[in-house]
Amino acid sequence: MTVSDHKIKSRFVIPPYSAHCVDVLAGEELCIIDVEGRQVSDFICFNKDDMTEHVSPVHMRSSLSSLRLKVGDGLFSNRRDPLMTLVEDTVGKHDFFFPACDYYRYKVDFGVENHPNCHDNLVKALAGHGIRMDEIPDPINWFMNNDVDANGDYTIRDPLSRPGDYVRLRALKNCVVACTTCSQDFVPVNGMTVTPIELQVLA
Ligand SMILES: [Zn+2]
Repeated sequence: MTVSDHKIKSRFVIPPYSAHCVDVLAGEELCIIDVEGRQVSDFICFNKDDMTEHVSPVHMRSSLSSLRLKVGDGLFSNRRDPLMTLVEDTVGKHDFFFPACDYYRYKVDFGVENHPNCHDNLVKALAGHGIRMDEIPDPINWFMNNDVDANGDYTIRDPLSRPGDYVRLRALKNCVVACTTCSQDFVPVNGMTVTPIELQVLA
């Protein structure tokens, strides 16, 4: 599918239980497409010219004064500067509150050793960039559907995304982005089935 009239520079389908890294240069756009629907994609983004700057959900919550993402919002960095802007969103429900699933999520909470997980998949995807295990920032979890009630308590629900839904982001600086197909298949984060995510870089 093509989601805009921009020219597709590259495309990649991330298989279930994995991750992929892509450059998105200033002025280019990135589409993150939920191919089959109800699939979360954990997203991290670095400034390609200074990898110590990265999109930072805690700074986003502060700069946006919000727990929800809207078209036009900046994806603010740990320097309080947006690296990307959300320019289109066909779902309107995402999370930038939760950490990536990791070894300990499956080991501690489910008693399962060596379950695939977003954190390790992000480390692998970024291997060429010298990012260490303990340097993976918190993610934006595209399509993740957490309901927070008036008391601040939350419930994780199936994503609202249907097949082909997507978000489109515009890079404000040269960016290195890594995205996963979230590996969670014990609770309904991904509708209990892990499915592909497609990335398109638009020139
Ligand atoms: Zn995950």
